[in-house]
Amino acid sequence: MNIIVITPPLVQLNSPYPSGAYLTSFFKSLGHDCHWYDLSLELVYAIFSKEGLTKLFELSEEKALKLADKAQSEGDENTAFNIRRYISTKNNWINWIDDILLILCGKSREKEHQFLFSPYAPRGARMENFLSSMDREPSVDDVRFLCSYALADLGDYVSTVFDTEFSLIRYAEHLTVDERSFSEIEKNLDSPVMQHFYQPLLEKRFEKMPAPDMVCISIPFAGTFLPALFTARFLKKLYGDKTYLVIGGGFVNTELREVSELSLGKYIDAISYDRGYGSYKALFDSGFLQNRKNLPKPLYKLRLFGADSILPPLFEQKELEVYETNLTAQVIPDYSDIDFSLYPRVCDDKNPMHRLWNDGAWIKAYLAHGCYWHKCAFCDTQLDYVCGYRPVNVEKLYRGLLQTAREKGVYGIHFVDEALPPKFLKEFALLNARNGNPLYFWGNVRFEKAFTKDLAALLSFCGFGGASAGLEVATGDGLKVINKGVDIDSIAGACAAFKEAGILVHAYMIYGFWYDTAQTIINSMETLRQFFQAGLLDSSFWHKFVLTKNSQVFYEWTKGQHDDLNPVLPKASKSIFANNNLHFKGEDKYQKFGPPLENALSSWMHGQALDRKVTKWFDFPVPPPTVAKDFMEKAIARYEERNSRKIDFSENKKLYWLGSILVETEASVYSWIYLQEEFAKKLTRPLVELLKKLSPLSSIEDYDKAFESIKKSPEMQKQIQGLHNIGLVFV
Ligand code: SF4
Repeated sequence: MNIIVITPPLVQLNSPYPSGAYLTSFFKSLGHDCHWYDLSLELVYAIFSKEGLTKLFELSEEKALKLADKAQSEGDENTAFNIRRYISTKNNWINWIDDILLILCGKSREKEHQFLFSPYAPRGARMENFLSSMDREPSVDDVRFLCSYALADLGDYVSTVFDTEFSLIRYAEHLTVDERSFSEIEKNLDSPVMQHFYQPLLEKRFEKMPAPDMVCISIPFAGTFLPALFTARFLKKLYGDKTYLVIGGGFVNTELREVSELSLGKYIDAISYDRGYGSYKALFDSGFLQNRKNLPKPLYKLRLFGADSILPPLFEQKELEVYETNLTAQVIPDYSDIDFSLYPRVCDDKNPMHRLWNDGAWIKAYLAHGCYWHKCAFCDTQLDYVCGYRPVNVEKLYRGLLQTAREKGVYGIHFVDEALPPKFLKEFALLNARNGNPLYFWGNVRFEKAFTKDLAALLSFCGFGGASAGLEVATGDGLKVINKGVDIDSIAGACAAFKEAGILVHAYMIYGFWYDTAQTIINSMETLRQFFQAGLLDSSFWHKFVLTKNSQVFYEWTKGQHDDLNPVLPKASKSIFANNNLHFKGEDKYQKFGPPLENALSSWMHGQALDRKVTKWFDFPVPPPTVAKDFMEKAIARYEERNSRKIDFSENKKLYWLGSILVETEASVYSWIYLQEEFAKKLTRPLVELLKKLSPLSSIEDYDKAFESIKKSPEMQKQIQGLHNIGLVFV
């Protein structure tokens, strides 16, 4: 079969969204011919190119000048000036846009000098703000920032003057997120960007292409739903019944799980749920694609749309569940259709952890589908993307990713796991080391005790560079209520271990839980402040708690637990969306805490106001925190205490030498560098020889021999104790 996989606009600019890579690989593994198109990136280039901007200004100039006049008549000189400046300097924008993209893709260093200094380069409000906020003269090294803001300025122009639904990384999100009926979404389908930029792109891409047998549109977020529908409508019109059209992806899995909207059938033939492997297998095996006269019996995780009926899916089928589990272990994402050099590496924040997200065309993959814990009260634990924990074959994945890295010239991996399992992360890291450490990788973890000082140092040595995880509520009681499965000590220990090892750390925070009080929020905020003050975090983000239908807490509520939770169940409505998000009584009570929490955090992330009392950030009365001032200090002391324990050779662990080359400085005294510090010790020659072989970079044979020698020698073990944590780790 001929299959096309589509990523609709608009998602993150700098990397392709990975679902396309997984589906492509899966279809190819079944012997189908499959191609993946990242139409999100294509739309970015369709707008932000010489040709695109020329057209944009032609279409919008008149309206822009009217808007400027209106702003001026209302006394808003600033807006009037900004809009007129776009029009007056449109030729500068048109002449520079291709170079702006080239610079963001790291391909035009020479033009960076010109872009910074030429008075004929375009400037917008965000660019000016950036330039004036710099406490030193901007240098050519700041030009990628300047170009990122240039793109954002142009994005502002598009959304202000041409199409209010547009933003650089999402499209018409609010139409889908607000509780809307399907007909309202349909009414907005022909919005300006879709009509003038996306339609021609689709025509150019598909009109001369023979009808594929199947098209799969993966819809990861709400901000891609409307363009996905537009794509589906275009392809249905172009190919008719020759092509079977299926949608799936993260947004579909949460929001369209129970959809009964018949009109969707005008656009698509089916919805595939969850990973998709089982549902597509069921579809292929049913023979329905070859003979589409009658709807078959219900199929596994596939909702089928007929002319005037919908056939709901089967959500359980043993055989296909086993098939899916086996396949999840084996699928290696296939990026062969992707040109990573075209993805703009955007940088709009100096925070090093934030930079990781956008500044790099990461190859995305996962070490395990789902979450190995899958018990947090607020999380969608009833859905496959969380509860369907299935690890992959790490060795096979490593080989595949290394091959992709070499072919594409991109050596950064962003693991998109819900939570990277420490065991498999270590396995991946050691494989990387044995191959000479070519890959740099980072991703989501759970802050837990498994991430010891030793393991963090080993991971860092082997290429692991960033960890993001949920801290959620930084209080012991809160962590129990949300069933996080970790305590503050484990969290502080993991963060300390990562930071000591040079790994960047980000924490997700949540406020406004159903059980929250002003006191619990203030305590959480104070603990977070102490985390930053102790240097345990690089960045963080406060989310407002959202109750979801597929969460653990809601499930338990339906079973009679959580008397303090009062969900407001939706009345039957015309909306096909917002099925997962639920309201609950009291949900707005702590809304006002949001801005002060964010302001404080923004300062802390830039190393400012860390000593300021947390209550001072609020312009309304809040209780003082009841968290001890030395709470974090004590947690760190306990972490140090845990790490000062002697190596117990009876434990089923291994030794790794992470220090630099041992250099003899005087008779039997050797010095080395570890974590940028110099150490020196008296060591025997045989031990020095063995230490070299205990490097994670050694071959398995050399390593095993060296490790066995140490295990057999009490004398060596005695010497080894003195090297623990100053070059040697035990994991
Ligand atoms: S919140 Fe994170 S750790 Fe908790 S169950 Fe969900 S994915 Fe797992």
